[in-house]
Amino acid sequence: MYLKRLEVRGFKSFASATRFDLEPGVTAIVGPNGSGKSNVVDALTWVMGEQGARALRGGKMEDVIFAGTSSRPALGRAQVSLTIDNSDEVLPIEYTEVTISRTLFRSGASEYAINGTACRLLDIQELLSDTGMGRQMHVIVGQGQLDRILQATPEDRRSFIEEAAGVLKFRRRKEKTERKLAALEANLLRLSDLTKEVS
Ligand code: ATP
Repeated sequence: MYLKRLEVRGFKSFASATRFDLEPGVTAIVGPNGSGKSNVVDALTWVMGEQGARALRGGKMEDVIFAGTSSRPALGRAQVSLTIDNSDEVLPIEYTEVTISRTLFRSGASEYAINGTACRLLDIQELLSDTGMGRQMHVIVGQGQLDRILQATPEDRRSFIEEAAGVLKFRRRKEKTERKLAALEANLLRLSDLTKEVS
């Protein structure tokens, strides 16, 4: 899957609108310590639906919004857009180019969009879930993450493989359906008790 473009504005150290055009091949981001290289990866993780502040190296989600510097006031919102080339139809959507966007306001409100149309976080997660870039993505290997994978419990390792294979989405749906079935069975039992009582 070819990630074509990443646009950030008000996200972490990127106060101004910044656009990364990712040409085919290998892209390397270089810079001194603390200059914001990892923030670019955080922006990628975030726009693809990351919900954990810790995974984004912050204490709370609001920490992704530009907090201001001595020369620049803090901003009220963080916005990231990622454009994916879909000419190989790897995403189940009828567009050759797909832009997913995420905005977070200081009030805590969030907005998500696919190709400019507002959507739910779940829509973005489902769109990406068969690509290995979903909720628990394993295509971004962060510092120290290899150790975590190597030391994972058999259950966690199974869940990594299931996510990569696109099975996890169906497991979640199955679990949801099983919960509904159990509730239905309880209702049926109650109905049968009531019927016995009145007959
Ligand atoms: P290293 O090479 O040491 O890993 P790096 O280039 O990857 O560094 P990052 O960790 O991406 O750097 O960026 C850290 C910088 O981002 C710090 O200067 C930090 O102050 C800044 N930063 C993080 N969050 C925010 C925020 N919400 N507002 C403003 N600046 C922020």
